[in-house]
Amino acid sequence: MDLGIKGKTALVCAASKGLGRGCAEALAAEGVNLVINARGEAALIQTAYAIAERHQVTVEPVAADITTADGRARVLDALGGKADILVTNAGGPPPGHWTDWDRDDFIRAIDGNMLSAIALMQALVPGMMERGWGRVVNITSAAVRAPIAQLGLSNTARTGLTGFVAGMARQVADKGVCVNNLLPGIHDTDRATALDAGVSAAQGISADEARARREATIPTRSYGRAEDFGAACAFLCSQQARFIVGQNLMLDGGALNVTV
Ligand code: NAP
Repeated sequence: MDLGIKGKTALVCAASKGLGRGCAEALAAEGVNLVINARGEAALIQTAYAIAERHQVTVEPVAADITTADGRARVLDALGGKADILVTNAGGPPPGHWTDWDRDDFIRAIDGNMLSAIALMQALVPGMMERGWGRVVNITSAAVRAPIAQLGLSNTARTGLTGFVAGMARQVADKGVCVNNLLPGIHDTDRATALDAGVSAAQGISADEARARREATIPTRSYGRAEDFGAACAFLCSQQARFIVGQNLMLDGGALNVTV
């Protein structure tokens, strides 16, 4: 299916690896030119080069921390202040116990996984509205619908972003801008490897065993792949997605056992 977005420009945040990279790859495969971002320069440049070469699009890498005002300013500068498509993403907060987190931990999590996405939408969505077309996909987490106790910082920040999007998405849809959230369940990325390592240490089992136990809880019996995730993201950015507004799409292999 032609998604009708060839020649558009997208900002994909936190995209040198993992789910962000999956989204960048899938958009590039549709002919979308990219600005991509991550903190580590070497991996970012390698990713930008590989995507540009494979899909014959322009990919500008901006090494910056997207959770800081300075990092966002540099990324927005590279876009000349405008983009047709925005994919927000950043690393997730660390696991822990609810009694251990203090105000600074919450502020860091909220800055990283809520306020930075909101700031990018505030910077780019007005231009999309003026031009009469835009797509925003926020990478959040399945934890928004099914909280993971030890990821309480993530649960807190991401539900805050979800609440913001629920209202805002309905205020911009009449200008051709569709804002939605993608909720990853477990996907085979560095983040999943780190979480498995945590379970392995806590339960005194091998990382392979931790993964096997988790896979057994998923109806697909396997972790998702970044390319599966990217394909869903590209569809939400398509012309065909014009009637999908303010939704929270679970990509979890059916792990959340609910009817709706
Ligand atoms: P990942 O494989 O660890 O990749 C993270 C990417 O984000 C890397 O490119 C990393 O590069 C970049 N990044 C991290 N912090 C950044 C920052 N402050 N500014 C700019 N770039 C940054 O992680 P992932 O699995 O793709 O996860 C992406 C998001 O989805 C995370 O928030 C994660 O918590 C969430 N999530 C993932 C899963 C899963 O199963 N994978 C499930 C639920 C939710 P640098 O380190 O070089 O900056």
